[in-house]
Amino acid sequence: MPYVHNTLECLRKSSPAQTEFYQAAEEVLECLRPLFERYPEYLEHSIIERIVEPERQIMFRICWVDDKGTVQVNKGYRVQFNSALGPYKGGLRFHPSVTSGTIKFLGFEQIFKNALTGLPIGGGKGGSDFNPKGKSDGEIMRFCQAFMSELYRHIGPNTDVPAGDIGVGKREIGYLFGQYKRITGLYEGVLTGKGLDWGGSIGRKEATGYGAVYFAQNMLKARGQEISNKTCLISGAGNVAIYTIEKLYELGAKPITCSDSSGTIVDENGIDLDLLKELKETRRVSLKHYLEKHTQANYIPNSEYPDDGHSVWRLKADLAFPCATQNELTGADADALLENGIYCISEGANMPSTADAVDKFLVAKIAYGPGKAANAGGVATSQLEMAQNSSMEKWSLDKVDSKLKAIMENIHTQCAETAEEFGEPTNLVLGANIAGFRKVANAMIEQGV
Ligand code: GLU
Repeated sequence: MPYVHNTLECLRKSSPAQTEFYQAAEEVLECLRPLFERYPEYLEHSIIERIVEPERQIMFRICWVDDKGTVQVNKGYRVQFNSALGPYKGGLRFHPSVTSGTIKFLGFEQIFKNALTGLPIGGGKGGSDFNPKGKSDGEIMRFCQAFMSELYRHIGPNTDVPAGDIGVGKREIGYLFGQYKRITGLYEGVLTGKGLDWGGSIGRKEATGYGAVYFAQNMLKARGQEISNKTCLISGAGNVAIYTIEKLYELGAKPITCSDSSGTIVDENGIDLDLLKELKETRRVSLKHYLEKHTQANYIPNSEYPDDGHSVWRLKADLAFPCATQNELTGADADALLENGIYCISEGANMPSTADAVDKFLVAKIAYGPGKAANAGGVATSQLEMAQNSSMEKWSLDKVDSKLKAIMENIHTQCAETAEEFGEPTNLVLGANIAGFRKVANAMIEQGV
């Protein structure tokens, strides 16, 4: 398949520093080989070359004043990757590790994820290298205002609708929305993840985590298994991890870990969800404080696994939910998980497993739900928020949750049926990539060059 090979070579040469983008593109394009063999017409339209190139990339300077009166400068990004299926849609990430390559990889993944939801949303992503850690509320507000002072001219409810991601939650969306409204004078659904009293959708905050658990439930059901009474490993302690844990409890499972940038908490009694919410949503402090209330729990600092792995993946459990960040689960971690008998992995984060780890899961034929399928519940519920905003309606939790459940079931069905169609019934990576790509590619062909 020279086309796939040539496109990957071009990407590698033209953007050598964008390793995460290359990793994401390589996975998708490699999975598409059987599709192109069967349907070579996709190649006639140069879809591969077109789909790896963002429609637009915006980079800007963000200047803001910290509490000491010093002017700070950060980099801002918005990648408007693909609008074949609808307005660009995807979160904003504020984290010191963010580069243009990070945003490009996340935007690329978002195209296929959004396509899998079956909803009319294109793919985009944005963010900044701003580090929210240790910043005062005033500093966060001034940074968000400065960020929106540039971004506002590029977004709109029918063009590009950002939301949250790592480092951007309801507080930040509030400051961003306020500034958009101040500048434009428009009260409109230009961001999702808003507060419930000012245009937000009930259930949006919980949706990514709940969706990842629903996806695991679907994968297990297809194998004649259930989620209740299963022991679960969860990484992360943000919005996705917290609501993954909440839903696991609701379904009778036992989540025993969570983690943050400094280490992992292991609580064999089950993670204390109220305490986790208090530490991370209210007090915004390190997980180390968990031990003050639960002295029996174990805290493993990340420094114990400096090179090739993470403490959270070295424990024995039935199911795993990586909900922290990209490449947080290495090949060595995958070996340890498989040795310890893991049989279902549902990814709440974007591309949390390295390519090496994914290969090992696929060879072992365990139930493995890649992020672009398993964590699509967040963006899907964002689209439900957009629908409520544009129709001036407010839906009930029951309505939103039953739609989310149906969407996650449908994503699983599409991935499983497509995997089956191409002769690899257990390979949901193949299924997700081909099913997502096909929708976007068909729309691009129908819309012309
Ligand atoms: N950041 C989330 C994601 O990775 C949500 C995006 C959205 O709601 O637009 O899908």
